Amino acid sequence: MKITESDFSTRRRNLLKMMTVGSAAGIAGLFGAPAAAIPSHYEKPRYAKGQGPVKIRNVKAIATAPAGSNLIVVKVETTEPGLYGLGCATFTQRAAAVVTAINSYMGEFCIGRDVDNIEDMWQSFYVSSYWRNGPVLNNAISGLDQALWDIKGKRANMPLYQLLGGKARFAIPCYAHAAGRSPEVVAENVQKFIEQGFRHVRIQQGGYGAVGAAADQPDFKKAGFGTESDSYMNERSYLKSTPKIFEAVRKACGDEVELLHDIHERAQPMDVINMCKKLEEYRPFFIEDPLSPENTSWWKQLRASTTVPFAMGELFNNVNEFLDPMVNHYFDYIRCHVSQIGGITPAMKIARLGEWFNVKTAWHGPGDVSPVGHAAQAHIDLAIWNFGIQESTRFSDKLQAVFSGCPTMKDGYMSVNEAPGLGVDINEKEAAKYPITTKSNWQVRKSDGTIIRP
Ligand code: MG
Repeated sequence: MKITESDFSTRRRNLLKMMTVGSAAGIAGLFGAPAAAIPSHYEKPRYAKGQGPVKIRNVKAIATAPAGSNLIVVKVETTEPGLYGLGCATFTQRAAAVVTAINSYMGEFCIGRDVDNIEDMWQSFYVSSYWRNGPVLNNAISGLDQALWDIKGKRANMPLYQLLGGKARFAIPCYAHAAGRSPEVVAENVQKFIEQGFRHVRIQQGGYGAVGAAADQPDFKKAGFGTESDSYMNERSYLKSTPKIFEAVRKACGDEVELLHDIHERAQPMDVINMCKKLEEYRPFFIEDPLSPENTSWWKQLRASTTVPFAMGELFNNVNEFLDPMVNHYFDYIRCHVSQIGGITPAMKIARLGEWFNVKTAWHGPGDVSPVGHAAQAHIDLAIWNFGIQESTRFSDKLQAVFSGCPTMKDGYMSVNEAPGLGVDINEKEAAKYPITTKSNWQVRKSDGTIIRP
């Protein structure tokens, strides 16, 4: 549309009128307060009534392990009586460090701030330590971020997915985990999930990298090297057995079920390439985390060598790590731990970025995400267009005694409740019955005792 000289004059006149009619409103407009009048049939938001913002009164970490895994939740209390928010800050392997980061640093930083300004608070906390990108502080930020979104939903009296754009699907398709010591047992377990309504199943033999499935005794154990609890991975037997699991499951369960597998960064790049080429004929839905963070320069070669779809990013710390692989179409699914990258605010950014590159989401959803965190990613799953798949977990009775309002599963779909905000609450007395520990065990070794990067 062409804009004429007279249009410009009219616009200039209107602008001057807006600035002079009610000079207070005009001047306030220049300095940040809303300049335009609110139509009379709308109720003014609290801040526009001159009542002052709702502020953060207290922030604290709640640590609990009702199902064994350390879970950390941030509780943000406000100046509005009864109004608080919860956010997941679970870095299960270094949980006590996250508790310290929250209880020692966050209060001084955020108490007294306006609960409405999530982006500003996120960016402020992100840079306030100067050094950033670490999992401890990112999880702490996530706890604050998710709790603030929870509060915003409660204030709006809407479930969070509504604030993110409303439902893009009626519920969230999920995958379940089928494992077993042999391909036949894995196939039997896949069949059980199909009967429960799952259309997507992840298949693993033993633990990641077939840990526990190898029959041989590693030399390092015989030599007394390492510690008692160290695990053993036989790389050759893992690489040979994985295509056999796919073959057995396809044979027993047919072609309809979508099959996933997690390499968990445990194999060498050229071995990954060779194995993925063999998996193509079984049409995997995706292969997860084929490369360790130390081997990302192999993406180009990996992508050019095979047509299997990839999910990546569980060990990413920062949304910026997704940009280059997305631009280069190196993988197909965003696979990250939402609290690890800093919460809902950065997760929405990375999800939206993925939409432009046809990359879908597959948030990390195991037992070491709290129910608050599961709800947070479920609200994102409902609202974004480029949702891919969601990893599901089972919320045990003990877990549900601590966390009420957990997402529910039916016929392979996850749903959230319609309560305002995230819809999950915590019983702090019950949570206190399950103290966290400082133990974590990710030491996996080759037969000669060399540590394998997970
Ligand atoms: Mg994984």
